Amino acid sequence: MNQKTVPQEVLNTFFPGTSLADVRSYGDGHINDTFLVEASGSSGSGKFILQRINSEIFQHPEELMENIQGVTGWLRKKITEEGGDPARETLNLRLTADGKPIFKDASGGYWRVYDFIENTSCFSQSESAEDFYQSALSFGHFQRLLADYPAHTLHETIPHFHDTPVRFATFEKAVAADSAGRADSVREEIAFVTARREYVHTLVDKQASGILPLRVTHNDTKLNNILIDNETGKGICVIDLDTVMPGLSVNDFGDSIRFGASTGAEDEPDLTKVSCSLELFEAYTKGFLEGCGGALTPAELDSLIDGAIMMTLECGIRFLTDHLEGDHYFKIHRENHNLDRARTQFKLVSDMEAKRSDMEAIVKKLAAELC
Ligand code: ADP
Ligand code: MG
Ligand code: MG
Repeated sequence: MNQKTVPQEVLNTFFPGTSLADVRSYGDGHINDTFLVEASGSSGSGKFILQRINSEIFQHPEELMENIQGVTGWLRKKITEEGGDPARETLNLRLTADGKPIFKDASGGYWRVYDFIENTSCFSQSESAEDFYQSALSFGHFQRLLADYPAHTLHETIPHFHDTPVRFATFEKAVAADSAGRADSVREEIAFVTARREYVHTLVDKQASGILPLRVTHNDTKLNNILIDNETGKGICVIDLDTVMPGLSVNDFGDSIRFGASTGAEDEPDLTKVSCSLELFEAYTKGFLEGCGGALTPAELDSLIDGAIMMTLECGIRFLTDHLEGDHYFKIHRENHNLDRARTQFKLVSDMEAKRSDMEAIVKKLAAELC
């Protein structure tokens, strides 16, 4: 089947008895196939987002949809209680005629439908500290609304996603196997990782001992997963909930810092261009703490910087592992592309380690103002 066409049975299932004005590819998402559907008829008129879930990445689409149904239902209730507009401030699923949030077509594709949220834009990259701050507000707000959600009831849609010791163990196996014969050429990078053998346990240990609470995490906290209201310019809805899982709030925070506060591209070969901008770090921290509105515990506040360092280190470990294994996981567009990526992450880790006391001072100042 052509991935970019929608089987008629899918349309019949979600839009029975409805005349469809138009079905076309939509947006710039890289994971799912997304379509905009315009419908009119007795079972509902309007615009909808129809998506074919990427079931290569997500091997249990039903579990993923259980997560999304649980979380969006919760958000709808909270937003209503707080006097917000649940039609615009959360995704709303459209169910099949028999009440299911997901449909499997004859060729094995999995589909779902959301109401289309009008008059919004989606930006691919944050252009300024203000954009980055706005995205932090939205993801912090998401964290606040879900702070008392029973996170342990969520499925892990990608098992061990941020289990850094597991990533470290996989890396060590890749070094030992040296299947692509590259280990000797990257001894310095290997040593960088192995020097942090103990450190990789920091956050998972705190979670295991109950110091850090299990939270609902988003795990893809990019600017393009927020719908921005065209009139106000403010983020109104967090979308792309496929990777919602039980996890650590500081990891969501940390991953945003990893890709959003860097002064260089993720694959920048010139490492002099790569550092962690304290201005961007402060902008995001401010937005996140404001959005969280006091929902974070003191232990979480104390671990924000470790979240940033850990997510960056973990990402670097994954790039280096893929380089050692012959580039099977991340797509490469040039020789040593994954090695370049690993190096930017390690440069950022070093830079954040060096700036730790400055970052701590920023968190402390903002926490005193906002928490
Ligand atoms: P992917 O996982 O492929 O990134 P997303 O769920 O982020 O898929 O959706 C892709 C794009 O579709 C988004 O970037 C956004 O532009 C648009 N989109 C998704 N859901 C909605 C919605 N409910 N209303 C309006 N636009 C949406
Ligand atoms: Mg997306
Ligand atoms: Mg996605």
